[in-house]
Amino acid sequence: MNILITNDDGIYSPGIASLARVASNFGVVRVAAPDVEQSSMGHAITASRPLHYKKSPVNFENNIEAIRVNGTPADCVALGLHLWKDTDVILSGVNIGLNVGNSMWHSGTLAGAKQGVLFGKKAIALSAPAGETEPDFPALEPFVKEALQLLLNDSTVNLTNVNFPQKPIGMKYTRQAVQQYDGIVIPGNDPRGRKHYWFTIMPLDPAEADTDRWAVENGYTSITPLRLDLTNEGELNRLLRVQPVEQ
Ligand code: MN
Repeated sequence: MNILITNDDGIYSPGIASLARVASNFGVVRVAAPDVEQSSMGHAITASRPLHYKKSPVNFENNIEAIRVNGTPADCVALGLHLWKDTDVILSGVNIGLNVGNSMWHSGTLAGAKQGVLFGKKAIALSAPAGETEPDFPALEPFVKEALQLLLNDSTVNLTNVNFPQKPIGMKYTRQAVQQYDGIVIPGNDPRGRKHYWFTIMPLDPAEADTDRWAVENGYTSITPLRLDLTNEGELNRLLRVQPVEQ
C-alpha cells in the first residue's frame, strides 16, 4: 500500500512525524505537507501563483520521502498525487486540536483528506485534542494504529474523520455534531484602544449522544464516515414535487 501523508500544522509538527511512524507499518509512506502552519484554511487551493516544493526529510524516520510545499493542505495532496501516481490512500494529521462538529467546515486537516477523495482515493483525517501542552503523540500511537488497521482494511468507506481523546478507552462510530456552531467572535480592544476581534472556539451546548464531540468528551476515539455530496436529498425531492420549475 502506498500512503501519502499531509497535515495542516506544517511539516515540522510532531503530529505528522508520529503519523508517518505509525503508517510505516502499513506500507510505503510519502509526505507532502505545508511549509508553515495552515490550520483553519479549510479546502483552500492556491490558484493565483505557482507552487514550489523542497525535499524535507528532517522530521521523519526511515528515509521517508518528504517534501514541504508553499501551499495549503489541499495543494499538498494535489501535488503529492501528481508526483506519486501510485498512491492508494491519503492520511491527514495527526492534527494538534480536535476536528469535530462544525469545525469540519474550516479544518485544513479534513480538507487534506477531502482533496484525496476528490482525486478518487481513500482518505482518513486524524486529530487529537490540544490543551495547555501538545498531545502526547507517542502515547496515542497504538490507538492511531488501531484506527488505521480498522479503516484501511475496510474496502468500502472512502472518507473518515477520526478524533482521539487524550486517553482512549475504546472506539465509537459517530455522526457529526451539528447542533452548535463553535466559531464565535469576541470583541475587545488592542493596546492602542482600537477595537479588535478574536475568532475563537467555544462549545455552546452539551454534545448530543452518538456525535463525534460526545464520543471524545466521554473518552472514546470517534470515527465518523463522511461524504462529499452536500445535496440535501429531502429538500431536492420536496422542491421537485411542490415547486416544479421546468415548463
Ligand atoms: Mn491544525
